[in-house]
Amino acid sequence: MNPDSFRKHAHEFVDWIADYFETIEQYPVKSRVQPGEIKQQIPGHAPKSGEPIEAIFHDFQTIIMPGISHWQHPGWFAYFPANNSPVSVLAEMLTAGLGVQGMIWDTSPAATELEEVVTSWLRDMMGLSPDFTGVIQDTASTATLCALLSAREKTTGFSVNKKGFEQTLRVYTSNQTHSSIEKGVKIAGFGKENLVYIESDENFALKADQLEKAIKADLENGFVPCCVIATLGTTSSMAMDPAKDMAAICKKYGIWLHVDAAFAGTAAIVPELRGFMEGSDLADSFVFNPHKWMLTNFDCSVYYVKDPEVLKQTFSIMPEYLKTAADNQVNNYRDWGIQLGRRFRSLKLWFVIRHYGIEGIQQMVRRHVELARKFASWIQDEPRFEILAPVNLSLVCFRMVKPGLSPEELNELNKKLLEYINQSGEVYLTHTILNGNYCLRLSVGQRNTEKRHVKRVFELCEGF
Ligand SMILES: *Cc1c(COP(=O)(O)O)cnc(C)c1O
Repeated sequence: MNPDSFRKHAHEFVDWIADYFETIEQYPVKSRVQPGEIKQQIPGHAPKSGEPIEAIFHDFQTIIMPGISHWQHPGWFAYFPANNSPVSVLAEMLTAGLGVQGMIWDTSPAATELEEVVTSWLRDMMGLSPDFTGVIQDTASTATLCALLSAREKTTGFSVNKKGFEQTLRVYTSNQTHSSIEKGVKIAGFGKENLVYIESDENFALKADQLEKAIKADLENGFVPCCVIATLGTTSSMAMDPAKDMAAICKKYGIWLHVDAAFAGTAAIVPELRGFMEGSDLADSFVFNPHKWMLTNFDCSVYYVKDPEVLKQTFSIMPEYLKTAADNQVNNYRDWGIQLGRRFRSLKLWFVIRHYGIEGIQQMVRRHVELARKFASWIQDEPRFEILAPVNLSLVCFRMVKPGLSPEELNELNKKLLEYINQSGEVYLTHTILNGNYCLRLSVGQRNTEKRHVKRVFELCEGF
């Protein structure tokens, strides 16, 4: 494709994206295709000779689009938000155009230095301690894996990297925690059985006294406590672990504390919502995802550490062919995480933060939290419904109740309610189970969600 035809098609695609943004409410929020339906429309073999872009784009519209669930639809209340924004898409276009591989400073100094600047901007925006240094990872799962590996190496004086495991190291987290913790524990070689799940309280937050009890018991049994993971904003119910109490315990026993605020972290940018962050400054590492609630399209996860030396010593490699003259004056981010090659992710963050300003992001978060509270108040006023977890930030966990039904029947009823709501195509919610009770989750976080969308969920609930 020559530059002229690139220009022509790029303009067409931008027009298409702008139309998509404008007309997104005409699509059913959740894709309605059956398993295999997309695949069967695509040839099993790659084309021998090249095809015109018109033909490919036609198939994109007719084959791919029906298989898309519209995360940017204002009726998206499922899972968690993965909101993008026009400015973030524009920045991603530039990133794609440059095609930079930012593994070390030398391979594009601006990619490294902008990353240093925007991660410290973000840290300050959230009111996090200036003792934290940030680095961008692809996802929170990867950042948490980095934390587990760093904790493993720090605890053992960097000996697992050299010799493999010689002791049984233990990791602690609440029984409400995200599945990425278990995955990280398995990948980092701790062994799933050495992930100790701590009971949570009536608010689904970790019980700190139970954490200390588990650590003491492990010490008596010859295990080595290594890492504690606090979740601020669990995926299931947005529960907030007592990070401050957990930090005190970690300090007492010399254990690494990692804070996972992947979803909720964005809310820390709003001063009056920041209370849940208490104790985060005492952590060794902290992660949150701008790619969830902060208008930055996937992927972009910001990982903060107190001591970058530990991170670098855990991951550092120095093959001859990657040595450069600048090595002792700059950050080479290949040593700050798992992958060698790195996308230029700081560019979209820079664009997003500058375009919206701190105030623009605050306004959006406040609006979402306000909408969630409103919905919760409607549910509370309606005797046929109940709320099953504290309404923290932008998430409401609720269900329908009916006198005389057994717990199983109630669960069935609420499954049907969820199906009924999602069949509308106007909104999309998902579920969780809290204390054995099936409940619906309303997660407000799409950039364009308004009161009328939340109201529509309530109307559908009432009409069931
Ligand atoms: C979404 C989420 C994760 C996983 O995030 P990825 O970036 O998809 O790996 C982990 N923890 C919490 C609390 C989350 O909300």
